[in-house]
Amino acid sequence: MSKSLQAIRGMNDILPEQTPVWRYLENTFAGLLEEYGYSEIRLPIMEFTELFARGIGEGTDVVDKEMYTFLDRNEESLTLRPEGTAGTVRAMLEHGLTGGGQVQKLWYAGPMFRYEKPQKGRYRQFHQIGVEVFNLPGPDIDAELIILTWRLWQKLGMADAVTLQLNTLGSSEARARYREALVAYLQERFEQLDEDSQRRMTTNPLRILDSKVESTQALLVGAPTLHDYLDEESIAHFEGLKARLDAVGLRYEINQKLVRGLDYYCRTAFEWVTDRLGAQGTVCGGGRYDGLVSQFGGKPTPGVGFAMGVERLVLLLETLGVVPAELKRPADVYVCAFGEPAELAALALAEKLRSAVPGIRLLLNAGAGSFKSQFKKADKSGAQFALILGDDELAARVVGFKPLRGEGEQQNIAWEALPEHLAACIQRA
Ligand code: ATP
Ligand code: MG
Repeated sequence: MSKSLQAIRGMNDILPEQTPVWRYLENTFAGLLEEYGYSEIRLPIMEFTELFARGIGEGTDVVDKEMYTFLDRNEESLTLRPEGTAGTVRAMLEHGLTGGGQVQKLWYAGPMFRYEKPQKGRYRQFHQIGVEVFNLPGPDIDAELIILTWRLWQKLGMADAVTLQLNTLGSSEARARYREALVAYLQERFEQLDEDSQRRMTTNPLRILDSKVESTQALLVGAPTLHDYLDEESIAHFEGLKARLDAVGLRYEINQKLVRGLDYYCRTAFEWVTDRLGAQGTVCGGGRYDGLVSQFGGKPTPGVGFAMGVERLVLLLETLGVVPAELKRPADVYVCAFGEPAELAALALAEKLRSAVPGIRLLLNAGAGSFKSQFKKADKSGAQFALILGDDELAARVVGFKPLRGEGEQQNIAWEALPEHLAACIQRA
């Protein structure tokens, strides 16, 4: 195929064989979130570039290296959204939905775009399902978010394959003090740092804690730790969160290296990670961002949220072999008709059955064909039963009813009796 007819690298087609798994995941999540009282929000997939530059922040990989940014025909700089939080905050402010302390509990799902090196579990168009909550400052809501993700893993049958990493980042003042201490410590060892970390010394030093480079991790062993710099209120918040996770029996690991390097992140940070997917093991990440709304010029508004990567979750479901078999349930009936008069009667009958038996999975043969070829198609479709209509059946106002799987003889059923007969057979199958 010529190059121009290929999909863009890192942007995947989700083919019909896979969409049932995606829909299962999305529906399970949406159902759960509705049960917890969250509402869906749908946002544009493009925003003005400035929104992300301000909302995610210079000095992050996303803004510095990963955005799909271009000028539109009006010379305005637009960016394909790399994440969902900035757009959600923009929408809250634009529509006045967080003013006067209004609580908002929102979820969203959709494609995100980042110019990254494509590999297993890392793509340039990928999909996130996320939650954002506004105007609830306490640890109770942080706990609820974590607990509901845990319930999702349980529903999906993957709870044993993921672990919760938890940290508190303290207030932004506490982190500023810690950052100074960390920078002072690393400054003395600057030459030994890897190149990325050297760059982060000026842009985003806390992200160095997160470095995957072993020599850098070795340097960090003696470094000051964030928890020595925490403010009292943040400690109390963290204790409150842990108490709630303990109350429901949710296990966690404290990971002091789990940071989000920006000033408006504070207190709770968490990630759900798995060791079953190789390097791309984080399936969900989130935390508190009380400073973000004011970053956009709004009144100070507490916020907390998370986002999970759908591709990684689909991979994990498949790796664990926990995709429910019934997702691929084949048709109930395949209707064969021979000759134009029978085809017309079969069409009318099929439409009657669709009305009379809600949810019936009925395939009506298309493209005519001989007995042999229609039976072959009926069999291949995986349907439980074939309905057969030729001139004789038409004259007698019956159909041939033929079980395609297992035992059972073909028998004639009167058209009037068909809905009831089918409903009963499908229920048994
Ligand atoms: P990572 O460290 O893996 O790059 P991140 O910190 O950039 O992740 P977030 O911005 O917190 O990720 O996004 C939340 C989730 O979205 C991640 O935990 C992951 O599951 C998923 N995700 C992020 N980037 C990608 C990508 N390029 N391809 C697929 N999934 C992704
Ligand atoms: Mg990333």
